[in-house]
Amino acid sequence: MVLTFRSFSLRLIHPFSISVNTRTETPVVFIEIISERLIGYGEASLPPYLSESQNSVIEFLTKVNLSKFTLDDPISQVLDYIEQISPENYAAKSAIDMAVHDLWGKKRGKALYELVGSNPQSMPLTSCTLGMATEALMDQKIKEADKFKILKIKLGGEKDREMVEWIRRRSDKPLYIDANQGWKSPGQALDMIEWLSNKNVVFIEQPLPKGMIEEQAWLLSRSPLPLIADEACQTSQDIAGLVGLYSGINIKLMKCGGIREAGKMIAEGRSRDMKIMIGCMNESSCAVLAAAALAPKCDYVDLDGPFLIENNPFQDPIIQDGKIVLKDIPGIGLVQKH
Ligand code: MG
Repeated sequence: MVLTFRSFSLRLIHPFSISVNTRTETPVVFIEIISERLIGYGEASLPPYLSESQNSVIEFLTKVNLSKFTLDDPISQVLDYIEQISPENYAAKSAIDMAVHDLWGKKRGKALYELVGSNPQSMPLTSCTLGMATEALMDQKIKEADKFKILKIKLGGEKDREMVEWIRRRSDKPLYIDANQGWKSPGQALDMIEWLSNKNVVFIEQPLPKGMIEEQAWLLSRSPLPLIADEACQTSQDIAGLVGLYSGINIKLMKCGGIREAGKMIAEGRSRDMKIMIGCMNESSCAVLAAAALAPKCDYVDLDGPFLIENNPFQDPIIQDGKIVLKDIPGIGLVQKH
């Protein structure tokens, strides 16, 4: 089994702003694992606010030697080997994890959703993120999100209320709100959440900085809307500590290290009666379709990555009735763009 990789930059259709920064592209590393003339595809996405970079991913991948494995080995054997190379490196591990799942699916003629035991009929709606923007650009973004039935907006800035009122004059679609830790006190957060609660808002993601533990518990006990942990929840190890602070968790492959760990997080979250959301970074169809295979097991899906970039090397996922279509083809289901 042979691993190859290359750096790439995903160009965003519109500059993307959240409460902490603005950017026009996102660095990624694409990998391929080749065996028996089959290719498994993987992707590590590296937004600048996370600790990994193209360099750190490449450094990690250089240590990986897959020559001792064959497609007859169980997936877990390869993933256990990857795990012990060094701690953390979640995006790098995620790239390998998805490429291995893609390859194993292709070898066995099974779609990834089948390998992970998802029922494609239970796929929830997918939201599309608008990001912070000028009003003229927002108009355009709302039009571009036409095929999505849920919009996600990023708050935590100076003009939160104006932004929501402005969107509400143009669209009555349900809204997911992500504050990205941008509200600085529990009082401010509660004011905003109460104000948002009669505006067809479904939930609030990461209202307060993740270190505000007592404040978060205070907020949850008063919040009229569900509160979802994103920055506060990286792997399955974190979930026990979030009970009583959040109503649910946002799982991302790049944060947790891949499909196997994401599956553990779903099980752990369900056992603690948490709502489960699956989201993404700026990612191509590769990482997003890998995550989409788990989406039928989740309550909320925010897998819009490929729709926000202009140089996706793969065909975009198909959206039908506001949901990602899981194709019955072996592996992740990627089709190269020609
Ligand atoms: Mg978030």
